[in-house]
Amino acid sequence: RTVYVNGEYLPETEAKVSIFDRGFLFADGVYEVTSVLDGKLIDFAGHAKRLQRSLDELQMANPVTEDELLGIHRELVRLNDIDEGLIYLQITRGAADRDFAFPKDPVPTIVLFTQAKPGLAQNPMAKTGMKVISIEDQRWGRRDIKTVQLLYPSLGKMMAKAAGADDAWMVEDGHVTEGTSNNAYIVKGNTIITRHLGTEILHGITRVAVLRFAREAQMTVEERPFTVDEAKAADEAFITSASSFVMPVVEMDGAPIGTGKPGHVTARLREIYLDEMRRAAI
Ligand code: PLP
Repeated sequence: RTVYVNGEYLPETEAKVSIFDRGFLFADGVYEVTSVLDGKLIDFAGHAKRLQRSLDELQMANPVTEDELLGIHRELVRLNDIDEGLIYLQITRGAADRDFAFPKDPVPTIVLFTQAKPGLAQNPMAKTGMKVISIEDQRWGRRDIKTVQLLYPSLGKMMAKAAGADDAWMVEDGHVTEGTSNNAYIVKGNTIITRHLGTEILHGITRVAVLRFAREAQMTVEERPFTVDEAKAADEAFITSASSFVMPVVEMDGAPIGTGKPGHVTARLREIYLDEMRRAAI
């Protein structure tokens, strides 16, 4: 693979970052993942906007303009011949002698790499649905900032795998926050229920688009917390993320949700999302 690091396109084996990088020592960094379909970027503008918000929240400098960032994304797609896949972007506060306080004049580190995922949009899980378990949400309190501090979500994914499931939905004060790397939704009749925005969840870029499409399709959207019991009694459930788009959830803690098969509302939203976003891709 050819990757991007601090202004250079290099073979992945030649790309280097300092051992003093604060991303490595303190998880002092933010990231974005943008999907590629038909060799084009899905919702690049949404990801660029959230990136800037994450950086602002952490008083971190952005080393590139949005136009430059778009150019880098496109160049990596071209150099790595990506038709379907993901582009990972990370910006950290950069290298400095180890100290909890931020360095005075930090030089941010920026890296991007691609992951080819042939068949990303044809994921067979869209037909079978995924299984989730509920676990306690033990993450920090600023989940609206997309930091690289992903150890608890990683442990959650391992707990899910150990339980024979595909992912974990995290629960705080009896209410579902989100999945380990996705936003969580339940469906009751014609109503889509998903947690409201706040500091408790990441403001998903896919979530914005899916809720817009749901409203345009005359579905009712309720942005509010829901309980695990509500989820288990729902007609349908699904998740959204840049890498899975809209993916049905058919089982929670070993019990089927609805019929135990992917639901119609979920399937419709997935189809609309893929159609519309492919059309708008750049
Ligand atoms: N929630 C969490 C915790 C995530 O890590 C992600 C992204 O990977 C999402 C939600 C979905 O966000 P997006 O739709 O922007 O990919």
